[in-house]
Amino acid sequence: MMQVTDMHCHYHVEGAIASGLEKVLPGPRAVVLGTQPEDWNALAAWVQALPDTIVPGFGLHPWNVHRCCPDEDPDCLDAILDSLERCLHRYPQAWVGEIGLDNRVAKQQPDRPAARARQRLVFARQLVLAHRLQRPVSLHNLHAAGPLVEVLLEQQGALPPGIVLHSFSGSPETAQRLVALAREAGVHIAFGFSRAVNARSDQWQHVARAVGLDALVVESDRLTPAHAADDLTWMVQALADLFDLTVDDTLQRLEATASLFLALTSPTHS
Ligand SMILES: [Zn+2]
Repeated sequence: MMQVTDMHCHYHVEGAIASGLEKVLPGPRAVVLGTQPEDWNALAAWVQALPDTIVPGFGLHPWNVHRCCPDEDPDCLDAILDSLERCLHRYPQAWVGEIGLDNRVAKQQPDRPAARARQRLVFARQLVLAHRLQRPVSLHNLHAAGPLVEVLLEQQGALPPGIVLHSFSGSPETAQRLVALAREAGVHIAFGFSRAVNARSDQWQHVARAVGLDALVVESDRLTPAHAADDLTWMVQALADLFDLTVDDTLQRLEATASLFLALTSPTHS
């Protein structure tokens, strides 16, 4: 079986911790992202069970902003950020994520402009924390490319050391704009592709060609490790075909980029 680092997944949501688990994981390491304070403890249990394999990320996902952190309660966000900061101190290898912007979810809220503003505030404050503690971020972005670029530009001098746009479904132009922005700010950027999300259209292939293989990582975005290995293998093969490379060469370059990001918080893992 191919050994691939899963750069974005949520195994702690449905995957039960069992002995021998490391044998069913798709590769040597996996970045497992929490999405709300309620699931951070389950994630911590995974890190404790598999400390050399699981790299945790703690964050408040845009899907959960409107429920966990409503407008009417101004102190709520401060409390969540305090608890997030405590998690990040407890796990020095942890990323900040999954965080970001999702306009599809904002549109479902009764007051759309307020919902967009709320998501943006929650996202920006988590980015500030990631910069202050020098942690990479795993970003979700759906139908909100313009606001994403705006927020990153507002924080141009104070961005996290690494940014991974997970299951990126934006345009090649947006991707190139983000690459230029990251280069100017002196931070690492990569685009993650998953079979579960990206295989629905061929947009990812245009993005991949626009940014190049060395700015890419692969991920499952799965809630359990059960299908992760198949998904990751599929994506590595698809990238090998796209770039007309062998699977081994493709995997080696993807793993080099993954290692670079993981070394931002765990230098011994590089
Ligand atoms: Zn995710």
